[in-house]
Amino acid sequence: MTPVAHTSTGPRSVDEHRDAVAALVGPLPVITRPVAECLGLVLAEDVLAPVALPPFDNSAMDGYAVRAADVAAAPVSLPVEADIPAGRTDVPVLRPGSAHRIMTGAPLPAGADAVVQVELTDAGTVSVEIRSPVAPGTHVRRAGEDVAKGAVVLAAGTPLRPPQLGLAAAAGQAGLPVRRPARVLVLSTGSELVEPGEPLLPGQIYESNSVLLAAAVRETGGEATVLRFVPDDVDTFLAAVRSHAAGVDLLVTSGGVSAGAFEVVKEALSGRGVDFVRVAMQPGGPQGLGRLDGLPVVTLPGNPVSAALSFELFVRPALLGAMGHSVVERARARAWLASPLRSPAGKRQFRRGRYEAGTVEVTPVGGPGSHLLASFAASNSLIEIPEPVTEVGAGEEVDVILLGG
Ligand code: AMP
Ligand code: MG
Repeated sequence: MTPVAHTSTGPRSVDEHRDAVAALVGPLPVITRPVAECLGLVLAEDVLAPVALPPFDNSAMDGYAVRAADVAAAPVSLPVEADIPAGRTDVPVLRPGSAHRIMTGAPLPAGADAVVQVELTDAGTVSVEIRSPVAPGTHVRRAGEDVAKGAVVLAAGTPLRPPQLGLAAAAGQAGLPVRRPARVLVLSTGSELVEPGEPLLPGQIYESNSVLLAAAVRETGGEATVLRFVPDDVDTFLAAVRSHAAGVDLLVTSGGVSAGAFEVVKEALSGRGVDFVRVAMQPGGPQGLGRLDGLPVVTLPGNPVSAALSFELFVRPALLGAMGHSVVERARARAWLASPLRSPAGKRQFRRGRYEAGTVEVTPVGGPGSHLLASFAASNSLIEIPEPVTEVGAGEEVDVILLGG
């Protein structure tokens, strides 16, 4: 994505701001990381399987390894000449006319071509009665039938979820080349903010943005460090940022960017490389981005729903892109709107909604207010109303961004 120039006069579009934020955070370096720590990251290079999967022919059942020809006339009785538990590495050859007791995952002995599951036998240990014939190949898992030796087992660009991590481990990989997690410094400002668990004085509220934003960073696969409620004082703010900036890929602030007095983020960063702009959206109009001493900075408004939504629309895709994801947008759906909505002209409105996949219907949750965090927490989607639209009637079709949950 290319950086988008903007003027400080008119508002910029949601899409322009999203692209500008994405351009701020470049691709993160590739590192090798222990497989168990790669959940949610993106593979940066193809990974080959140095062994086939399965690595050897083995039994899919607990039972008896036999030659199919020896049990064709079942019921028959065969001497049991070996026990082959899983993990046995010195497997003897199966003599014609005999059986080996074999467990699931144990190597199939040379000479055997089938496994009779224990339920079709008398489970004998000295000799075994086989009650049913089996075709050659029965309950045998062939070497390489899952993955051939040397094959690309996971391709560059693959997001690593639990099955991919399991596969990498099964192929013997201890570490994987991934784009490293983005390191994000989350800083909330506001002299009214109090740490949850502490008593509140009149006029104070509990600080919640840093918890929400740090969790949202972690959900992308990034790492978050939190600096909570730096007071509304420019020098304190700048000192706090500068003392925590080392090794940080992105600073995300909340609060202090709107039109009031005591807008600490705006005062501290204006003229120091950060531009403050209006984005044609509701909620979340006042936004800022730029670099402070080279450190990429995105400033989000303080109202909790504005902060959360701005993260969702601008920061999340930027972080996912920097960490190598090719899909950075949420899934979308078209849905029937359950009750009518109004939207300001010229702004893209994002209303909280509950989307029902079964009926393909979305119901607005709560009003447009950007302080209504409980409504946001009760929703699973955002209803997106385009800039020119001012009214949408019940039963009309709308675009929905699916947030999960
Ligand atoms: P501001 O953008 O700083 O003017 O804040 C807008 C509104 O959001 C105010 O009502 C603040 O009290 C509230 N707010 C700002 N930061 C936070 C935060 N970290 N946690 C909870 N509420 C906040
Ligand atoms: Mg504030």
